[in-house]
Amino acid sequence: MQRRHLLMAGSATLALPVQSPVHALDFVAPHAPAAIRASADRLIDIVVGIRPFRALGPRIEAERIAGKTVVHHYGHGGSGWSLSWGSAQRTLALVQAGGARPGERIAVIGCGAIGLTTARTAQQAGYKVRLYAKDRPPRVHSCAATGLWTPESRIVASAHADGVWTAGWEAMARASFKVHQSYLGLPSGPVEWHDGYVVSDDGFDTPLHGHDDEPDYPDIGDRIADLRPRGKALAPGEHPFRVAHARRFTQLVFNIPAYQRLLLEDFARDGGELVQREFRAPREFARLPEKLIVNCTGDGARTLLADKTLTPVRGQTARLIPQPEVDYALIYRGQNVVVVPRRDGLLVQAMGEHDFGSTDLTPDRALSEAAVQRLAALF
Ligand SMILES: Cc1cc2nc3c(=O)[nH]c(=O)nc-3n(C[C@H](O)[C@H](O)[C@H](O)COP(=O)(O)OP(=O)(O)OC[C@H]3O[C@@H](n4cnc5c(N)ncnc54)[C@H](O)[C@@H]3O)c2cc1C
Repeated sequence: MQRRHLLMAGSATLALPVQSPVHALDFVAPHAPAAIRASADRLIDIVVGIRPFRALGPRIEAERIAGKTVVHHYGHGGSGWSLSWGSAQRTLALVQAGGARPGERIAVIGCGAIGLTTARTAQQAGYKVRLYAKDRPPRVHSCAATGLWTPESRIVASAHADGVWTAGWEAMARASFKVHQSYLGLPSGPVEWHDGYVVSDDGFDTPLHGHDDEPDYPDIGDRIADLRPRGKALAPGEHPFRVAHARRFTQLVFNIPAYQRLLLEDFARDGGELVQREFRAPREFARLPEKLIVNCTGDGARTLLADKTLTPVRGQTARLIPQPEVDYALIYRGQNVVVVPRRDGLLVQAMGEHDFGSTDLTPDRALSEAAVQRLAALF
């Protein structure tokens, strides 16, 4: 997430009075949040993924290529998981307008968050679907995601977020949110609600500085503020963290491995086929037996279509050994650390200085270790 978006994730806009730091031992609440065992030797995995950012917002439009109707569906920046279902519903309308009839087989290229949810949405509308992908989970960028409901994260640049665009985004976010709720309460926990804390040494009024090379992003999160409970400012003694300022929020969390696995299983159960195949040029679409193709190649569209409107944004996530007793998310404002209580481990996201425009997939262990160290100082 972009720094400004970390703020939104915790609705941390409230101005808090200056308070003296509280210490873990002073904390006497009946259900004290368990301490995170933040130590670098507990890191079990570090992964890097690319967010496919488009200043114009996601590309959802149809065109004719090599005698086929191709519906493009890519460019979801840091919001792909969050917006996926609503975005797939809008794409389905273009599939239907493209003349494909229910019962017919369509092709979906790409097996990340966008390809899988598009395939499931089309199946539910009565289409047969064959998925083509160079790579499948876990070797897709979607698998590196943090797993928070962040539908406004690097989804558009302010310059392109006019009233019409923003209303369309809001409709997608609301539709997506509704489908995510239908994945609650399942044994593997693909979607869960968790409390979280935004904590800060300096208070929530201090401005955070983004990177100079990034565009300005619009503040659109308020339009869907009603989709989750209001945050609450916490007084010293109401939280155990070694910081002066804290605020509690409640947030939707995606357990990415479980979600992706469930989508793949449901896809196969409904007769979906998955074919491993890389497309090197759009003219290769002509060789597919399907007449209608949905292009969900994410950052892959940058090279496949020579699409210069896509900017890759590198992101790195690491996991600490699972601690089921830690059931809260944590955002350390100003220190660029985010923790998500995922079932496959305590996910720690750290932001690098040169992520925007970077396609470097090499894990930077020092970056994650430094984030864990900053985290340790809180307990
Ligand atoms: C570090 C990080 C943290 C994130 N955190 C969040 C979060 O908390 N919440 C959220 O909502 N979003 C988050 N995101 C964003 C989200 O993960 C992306 O928006 C999403 O991954 C985009 O999905 P996708 O399916 O378009 O692309 P991908 O996951 O990249 O999938 C693309 C698919 O297309 C295939 N493909 C590509 N090119 C070709 C080709 N030429 N031929 C054949 N197949 C091809 C690939 O093999 C793959 O199967 C995060 C992303 C990152 C990197």
